[in-house]
Amino acid sequence: MKEMVINKGDMAGLLTELAGEMTVIAPAKKGDNLLFEPISDGSKAVLDSANTRLSPKGVLFPQCEQMMTFTTDRKQARLVAAENAGIMQDVKPLDQGQVIWGIRPCDTAGFLILDKVFNQGGAEYEDAYYLRRREKTAIVGLGCNKPLSTCFCTSFDNGGPFATNGLDVLLTEVGDKYVVTVLTDKGEALLKGKNGLSEADSASIDQAGQIKDAALKLVYSSIKADKIKGKTTMELFDDPCWDTLYETCMACGVCTYSCPTCHCFDIQDEMIDTEGVRMRNWDSCMFSLFTAHATGHNPRPTKKERFKQRFMHKFKYFQEKFDRIACVGCGRCIQLCPVNIDVRQVVKEMNR
Ligand code: SF4
Ligand code: SF4
Repeated sequence: MKEMVINKGDMAGLLTELAGEMTVIAPAKKGDNLLFEPISDGSKAVLDSANTRLSPKGVLFPQCEQMMTFTTDRKQARLVAAENAGIMQDVKPLDQGQVIWGIRPCDTAGFLILDKVFNQGGAEYEDAYYLRRREKTAIVGLGCNKPLSTCFCTSFDNGGPFATNGLDVLLTEVGDKYVVTVLTDKGEALLKGKNGLSEADSASIDQAGQIKDAALKLVYSSIKADKIKGKTTMELFDDPCWDTLYETCMACGVCTYSCPTCHCFDIQDEMIDTEGVRMRNWDSCMFSLFTAHATGHNPRPTKKERFKQRFMHKFKYFQEKFDRIACVGCGRCIQLCPVNIDVRQVVKEMNR
């Protein structure tokens, strides 16, 4: 582990320098929202604000993604096949590497959960579209000096405002500078020879340690899910708590779209004449069409079943399959739900 420092005034220059070598994705203003966006000018990065409105999951798992193109034109299909390219387009590697700069530790933990889904290895499911981005992405985290009242990252194993799991580099804001902690070889290679960085002095390192300790105490919100694991699926599924919890939900899907761990998608073919593209788009288990069959039958016919699915998936099914809860405590769903449905309250009921 190597500790360096950079003055805040030099950060924009460092990011602009990096953007000359790779795609830099950082929190930046888009209209009224702060979102993770590609930047070429380092001064556009906003590193002094709380969590972005949407999580950065779209960097590795885009909201809409072209999976392949195809044609139903037989003549053209023969031509393409003759060129040994096939009529379907392969998954292409990224043209260049990328770095996500200024991601919060909870959102990084979100990627570790997406890894479990999209990179199961061996004979299990491996998602080439996700993996081509994942492999070429460095992750530079920004610790949270002032966690929000909706944050509960410390409720999960290894979670916290300065958790380093999944990071290549961690930034700690200390007055007018950042302490830059290099955690992996990828992080080392990323920052090697970059302008603005110098070896950290012991006073800055000590101060960073104090800031981390203080931040931990500011996460006073939590969830307790210890009893959920011990309950049978049917016991939880039939629990009377679902009879009322769902009632105010408007099925808007904001909670799923903003969540760093929700990963359901739909695949659709879109065609103009004989040319087609196959698209993968985020979907939401909160929508009635999500489970609608072509026959018209819907196994989750009402809002109650759909609401239950979101929480059962995150806190029961995912835990059974992957031995971890599919929530990282970022608090976005609490902040954005238009009817104030609070995941902490739902889990409290499930855990009762
Ligand atoms: S369920 Fe809510 S708090 Fe948990 S990771 Fe998703 S958006 Fe964040
Ligand atoms: S954000 Fe709230 S209202 Fe919208 S689907 Fe989620 S729980 Fe329901």
